[in-house]
Amino acid sequence: MNREDINNDISDWESRIHPDDRESIVSIVEKSIKTDKPYVGDFRMQHKDGHWVWIQGSGSLIESQKLTDEPLRLCGIHQDISYRKQMEKELEFRAKHDCLTGLYNRVELEKECQEEITRARRYQHSFSIFMIDIDHFKPINDTYGHLSGDQVLKQFADFLKETVRTTDYVARYGGEEFVVILPETSLIKAEELAERLRVQTTELDVSLQQTTLKITICIGISSYPEHGKSYDKLLEAADAAMYQSKNNGRNCVRLASCHNDA
Ligand code: GH3
Ligand code: MG
Ligand code: MG
Repeated sequence: MNREDINNDISDWESRIHPDDRESIVSIVEKSIKTDKPYVGDFRMQHKDGHWVWIQGSGSLIESQKLTDEPLRLCGIHQDISYRKQMEKELEFRAKHDCLTGLYNRVELEKECQEEITRARRYQHSFSIFMIDIDHFKPINDTYGHLSGDQVLKQFADFLKETVRTTDYVARYGGEEFVVILPETSLIKAEELAERLRVQTTELDVSLQQTTLKITICIGISSYPEHGKSYDKLLEAADAAMYQSKNNGRNCVRLASCHNDA
């Protein structure tokens, strides 16, 4: 075979790379040619049946035009790394979410809240937080068993996610406690939404193997900046308000008391 027999046009290879990955891998390969050092990079490439395959491509320039130094031939290999990418995606999901309910976990909640504080400060907005606790949850475990308790938590979590607005951020804070961040939502608006959520919760049918249950919740609300300018202060204020609703007989909504010393 002569050099002329080899197609050195890489446009076909390039055209099958995912548009979001093309710029990055092409620049990696170009840099490798310029510096005459091997390259390695991950990208998605379209299989002939249409689906995308994660590839790790590695290689190097193996021949240049002697006089002009013009690159002539690259040699490389493609390794299918779809399985590894899928595992990485799953690990990333697990690191950010609560494994029972699939809601965001506490670490992510804090990150999101910090970001919301930064946005609210920059744009002079307010936002609100719900601290939600299911009433008399322990007796459910005691009566129907821990697995049934888990079912209640899962069904309530799904309901919560469906019921709040799509812009709201829902996390499991701990056992039977949940936190919702409501961006750009004043205290007055948050109170209206919390009251609606409380009532809708009383209408929810929670299905267990043996029976159907009704549950109620307590909601404590705090708002930025009235009740605090930090994550800790806002959570503390919402939590204290939630405990006030417990003392008030449960199945109710309470606002945090105003002290802007955060
Ligand atoms: P209150 O109305 O005052 O909120 O009472 P409560 O019974 O809901 O609250 P308490 O704090 O007494 O009990 C919470 C229970 O939640 C105790 C704990 O065993 C249970 N719990 C915590 N995490 C899980 C979980 O992941 N699954 C199940 N099934 N139960 C859990
Ligand atoms: Mg409870
Ligand atoms: Mg609790």
